[in-house]
Amino acid sequence: MIRPFNYHRASTLEEALRLMAKYQEDYKIICGGQSLLILMRQGLVAPENLIDIKRLKEMSYISYDPEKGLTIGATTTHREIEKSPVIEKYFPVLAEAEKNLASIQTRNWGTIGGNLAHGDPAGDPAPILIAANATVKMASVEGKRSLPLEDFTCDIFETVLEEAELLTEIQVPVLPKRTAIAYEKFSIIKNQQGIVSVAAWITMAENNTECKDARIVLGAAASIPFRAKEAEQMLIGKKIEKNLLSRAGKKASEECDPVGDIYATETYRRLLVKVLTEKTAQKAWEQAKAASSSGGTHA
Ligand SMILES: Cc1cc2nc3c(=O)[nH]c(=O)nc-3n(C[C@H](O)[C@H](O)[C@H](O)COP(=O)(O)OP(=O)(O)OC[C@H]3O[C@@H](n4cnc5c(N)ncnc54)[C@H](O)[C@@H]3O)c2cc1C
Repeated sequence: MIRPFNYHRASTLEEALRLMAKYQEDYKIICGGQSLLILMRQGLVAPENLIDIKRLKEMSYISYDPEKGLTIGATTTHREIEKSPVIEKYFPVLAEAEKNLASIQTRNWGTIGGNLAHGDPAGDPAPILIAANATVKMASVEGKRSLPLEDFTCDIFETVLEEAELLTEIQVPVLPKRTAIAYEKFSIIKNQQGIVSVAAWITMAENNTECKDARIVLGAAASIPFRAKEAEQMLIGKKIEKNLLSRAGKKASEECDPVGDIYATETYRRLLVKVLTEKTAQKAWEQAKAASSSGGTHA
């Protein structure tokens, strides 16, 4: 049962930050409520004050600038991202992942900011955005700051957000040429969170035969989404072929730190990491090769 709480609806970012500073001893931000309400119903979270930011239109936007890249406001819903022509054109891998994230009802309410701030290691957007080198912007009455998304989640369901600090924006830099990003998740039930997921970024070298740069990000394979850096190093400077991918997949499965639960044992998760790393890196490699021939990118 949900414990009684005081409800405050902010109509501007400034008002939200003031409310957060005022109630900083005991408040919780609610946006789409798709993750928070479950915790409240289970009695795991029982804030005295709920500060609703869902109607902050100034934080709901998607835009692209050829210099700065893509910016997504934190209160933008999953459904808006899935349907955005801008995302479809410049970051289709995210649009595709959004289609497989929960039901349409959940995507209509749930937001990208809420998803990242929830800090679930099985969330879909984080591995893709980390692979794409995204940064997050945060604000409080004290000021603003930004940091790489890679450093944002610090433990299971925990982020580096300070008391009275709001996640306001996600920025994705322009992809270098000859680069592709691919994403795969393995789930038992369609559109549910992945048992394991992998995002892979591959940049093809100018010679069109070797991998110039690689980023491999694992989801649900540890307490936070993280880069399998040793597996990445195995790919850089090499021509990517089956044998190498198999060894990189094995390395990623050694680098991860999964737990066993009712959905999968630790051993099964490691096996999935190996297979999905091979598959996703292969896909990104093929797409980077195609992008290289056309002088563009594929994300
Ligand atoms: C049935 C179901 C299936 C799901 N399947 C998937 C799936 O397949 N993949 C996936 O990735 N997710 C999945 N989810 C999770 C869910 O979609 C996201 O976590 C959701 O989008 C959270 O966004 P929200 O706006 O609803 O956040 P809320 O529930 O409102 O908030 C979540 C947390 O973030 C905090 N918060 C929210 N916004 C901000 C902000 N701007 N700044 C700081 N803190 C903030 C809140 O205080 C709270 O702690 C599923 C959820 C459900 C209910």
